[in-house]
Amino acid sequence: MEKKENKKHQYTLVIIKPDALVKSLTGNILTRLSEARLRIIAAKVVKVTRELAEKHYAHLKDKPFFNDLYEYFSGKTYGHEYERILVFVYEGEDAIDRVRKIAGATNPLEADPTTIRGAYGRINKKGIMENVIHCSDSEESAEREIKLWFKPDEIVEPIYPTKIVYKDNYPVLEWA
Ligand code: UDP
Ligand code: MG
Repeated sequence: MEKKENKKHQYTLVIIKPDALVKSLTGNILTRLSEARLRIIAAKVVKVTRELAEKHYAHLKDKPFFNDLYEYFSGKTYGHEYERILVFVYEGEDAIDRVRKIAGATNPLEADPTTIRGAYGRINKKGIMENVIHCSDSEESAEREIKLWFKPDEIVEPIYPTKIVYKDNYPVLEWA
């Protein structure tokens, strides 16, 4: 009997974090991710506010280390020219799992050295895991994160339901 295919068509949010920018790893990371055979359907550079960081890392915002995590994630640790991140939406079969495998374990000391985090991550003096890349861990968090970082018209194809709202009499597309 033929084996049942259970591959899923998925979207995932990828962030190249400030430590990757400091180390000029953008090209390297994108090349590694291209091995997942996915497609980029949205991309931008963002300066991370405290509010955005708290929403993105909602599960960590009440932890005692959140302030240090924010200093890292916002790039404030590295100075003005690194206060930015690169944000992408990838689309394709098993996108979430494929990207997480290439990224590696959260703790760079435990991550396989062939993974992005294993090769380039470190733990800083404050104990924060500087692991160069973020990637969604489930379909639910991918949807939440994609809707947080992108407006519908910043993505080159429709992926979640939208609605039209009027602002100053102009129609604007928002997530439904
Ligand atoms: N983090 C950390 N120490 C911790 C937990 C998390 O420094 O004990 C940082 C780390 O940069 C991690 C991010 O917070 O990537 C988000 O944590 P999460 O548990 O969601 O891991 P991820 O999904 O990034 O693998
Ligand atoms: Mg996570």
